Amino acid sequence: MDLYEHQGKELFKRFGIPVSEGRLATTPEEARAAAEELGGPVVVKAQVLTGGRGKAGGIKLADGPEDAEQKARDILGLDIRGHVVRKLWIERASDIAKEYYLSVTFDRGAKKPLFMLTREGGVEIEQVAEESPDALARLHVDPLEGFHPYQARRLIYGAGIDDPDEQKQILAIVEKLHRCFVETDAMLCEINPLIVTPDGEVKALDSKFTVDDSALFRHPDIAEMRDVAAADPLETFAREKGVTYVKLDGEVGILGNGAGLSMSTVDVVVVAGGRPANFCDLGGGGDAQGVIDALEVITRDEQVRSIFFNIFGGITRCDEVARGILAALEQMSISLPIVVRLDGTNAEEGRRLLTEAAQPNLRVAPTMLEAAQLAVESARE
Ligand code: GDP
Ligand code: MN
Repeated sequence: MDLYEHQGKELFKRFGIPVSEGRLATTPEEARAAAEELGGPVVVKAQVLTGGRGKAGGIKLADGPEDAEQKARDILGLDIRGHVVRKLWIERASDIAKEYYLSVTFDRGAKKPLFMLTREGGVEIEQVAEESPDALARLHVDPLEGFHPYQARRLIYGAGIDDPDEQKQILAIVEKLHRCFVETDAMLCEINPLIVTPDGEVKALDSKFTVDDSALFRHPDIAEMRDVAAADPLETFAREKGVTYVKLDGEVGILGNGAGLSMSTVDVVVVAGGRPANFCDLGGGGDAQGVIDALEVITRDEQVRSIFFNIFGGITRCDEVARGILAALEQMSISLPIVVRLDGTNAEEGRRLLTEAAQPNLRVAPTMLEAAQLAVESARE
């Protein structure tokens, strides 16, 4: 789950990482009031779950309440890479002497958290990594050994930060960011830029924060931060039903069992010349209720023109899935064409059940590619 900048900063603050004081606003009037409360110049920041807001005109300095109201009017409703701005974060403006970059993410290859620090902040980190890789200091933290300050010192020296006062502050921030990352079950905490003010104060000017979905049950306060209004209503519905579902923009609705097979199904539909409407993983089961839940989600998508079931029976038995599909079709009325490919344990039995049921909109295909072709064709009819 991705957090908005202001939510990430709230967590930073909880762990003692310095951030500027700010207020949320959803209207120009609220932006004005926020600027009045904060006093002095402020920065008006679009709250959207995408980066590069500055370049897109979503971050503007304002010299006072009146200006903040005007800037809020400019930014609200703006479309930033497909994200419409509905919320603003009004923050006391900072003077910037230097812009650094600091992040910690999970390095799956090394199975360890990985810190990255560079003096070349403010720009996209991919650009730094490509153009001046030596400027980017890296540090893995062994989860068993835990965090030790000397490691952070190595990171800071590695990045070429030589001002002792900055070193001291950044050392403290790295240590706190590590605790924040571990204790919130984060997958990414990125501060870009981490600024140094002309007075030499170091603080987080931005936040990009991703928390592991699977750990949210341990963090009800963070789970509550999810913005239901911004989420796709279909994905929200799927989550409520416990269905793994990702909306795509094509016409062929896809249901597979297991994430790998479902992803391959997305690919094979593309190979067959079609466009997947979604990715949906039934999981290991395939009982009637699981099939009904998934079909309910998929058929709510008005773009879907055909449905492609791709099932491989391992532990799951194909005859059970076939019964699940038939039970689902009895309970729900679905007029969309449905193509089923069954293979693996009890596949023959499963295919026989489906064929004998002789549902007019239900077709069975022997291979994945043939099924995909059928599903793509029937989506066009
Ligand atoms: P992003 O573009 O989505 O990464 O948004 P950021 O929060 O990183 O802001 C983009 C840029 O706006 C920063 O790199 C700064 O240069 C500038 N900026 C943001 N806040 C302030 C501020 O308080 N004062 C000044 N002078 N510039 C700011
Ligand atoms: Mn940024």
